[in-house]
Amino acid sequence: MIPYGRQDISDADIEAVVEVLRSDWLTQGPAVPAFEQAVAERCRVGFAVAVNSGTSALEVACQALGLGPGKRLWTVPNTFVASANCARRCGADVDFVDIAPDTRNLSPEALSKKLREAEKNNALPDVVVAVHFAGHSCDMELIAELAGTYGFRVIEDATHALGGTYKDAPVGSCRWSDIAVFSFHPVKIIAAGEGGMALTNDAGLAENMRMRRNHGITKDANRMKRPDDGPWYYEQHFLGANYRLTDLQAALGRSQLQRLDAFLDRRRAIVKAYHAAFAGIDAITLPVERPDTASAWHLYAIHVNGTSEKRRALFERLQADGLGVQVHYLPVHLQPYYRELGFGEGDFPAAEDHAARAISLPIFPAMTDDDIQTVVAITTKACADLL
Ligand SMILES: *Cc1c(COP(=O)(O)O)cnc(C)c1O
Repeated sequence: MIPYGRQDISDADIEAVVEVLRSDWLTQGPAVPAFEQAVAERCRVGFAVAVNSGTSALEVACQALGLGPGKRLWTVPNTFVASANCARRCGADVDFVDIAPDTRNLSPEALSKKLREAEKNNALPDVVVAVHFAGHSCDMELIAELAGTYGFRVIEDATHALGGTYKDAPVGSCRWSDIAVFSFHPVKIIAAGEGGMALTNDAGLAENMRMRRNHGITKDANRMKRPDDGPWYYEQHFLGANYRLTDLQAALGRSQLQRLDAFLDRRRAIVKAYHAAFAGIDAITLPVERPDTASAWHLYAIHVNGTSEKRRALFERLQADGLGVQVHYLPVHLQPYYRELGFGEGDFPAAEDHAARAISLPIFPAMTDDDIQTVVAITTKACADLL
């Protein structure tokens, strides 16, 4: 079985983790700040706060931006549930904005239209989470413009997009957003086991998120609200949690980050091979890359033209032939949890249409040339037989 994604661990990666195991610190040691600094440098951003998952990064980002009961977060339905759940976890309301059919990302036109209506109803969002689906950056300049006009904050869910660029800026630079978050789950661009990071250029937000990953505690003498009564003194200022990354994970993440360019090159080579092999198949539509954007190609999601029955037939055949295909994503608003909140079929037609036609083919740096040829042969044959 060739999975749709998986990690690629080298001897150097293993050595980096073993070194931590032999050191004084398994957690709260020097590996976490070293990893944070390396990611911040790579992304040309001021601050990076490591946490134990991309989901936690979204949560501390929402909390730092003041999301809570009575506030609203908007995101797209074509994403993993965590992009919306982060609002519910802090007691805020969620609504969705439909995607653009070509990029499968948040549609700036749909956002603009929904904002105009929301303004009339006094129901503007406080935060918009822009998801860079498959590693392809959203049109952040347009979103930032709308944020300026309507006064909402922007979080980039960049969990697919580490190493991608938009208008020559690395994804994560936060040039057009308040906070960007990454995930280091093994199927993502680099692996730490579990892990995530929240990036920002705002020192206050960074400090706030740093405190939130550690129970809301500070040991910074300049921030104390009361006189300290000794060198052991610390203060808790709000309700945080233990969202810390371990040094083991950080060491793996930092070692993997050194291989990021090689990973991206390999993903792009796979895309090139797929694009060339599938260009002549009329029954499927291939993913596109906008000219001012370099995707990190976390996913290679084709669309099956025609009915959803055809998609199902192709999916089952690819699976039977040994490809670990997937569908990204079941629309979040159609999950039972969100249906109970009032969403339903037909609310976001472009996301629903995408979900009815999408199949993610295997793409990960450890794929061999033979693996690529196997995927091409199986997919081409299945399309010829079934579509
Ligand atoms: C993976 C993912 C997350 C969550 O990241 P974890 O590290 O698994 O918690 C959030 N959003 C999207 C779009 C993802 O794909």
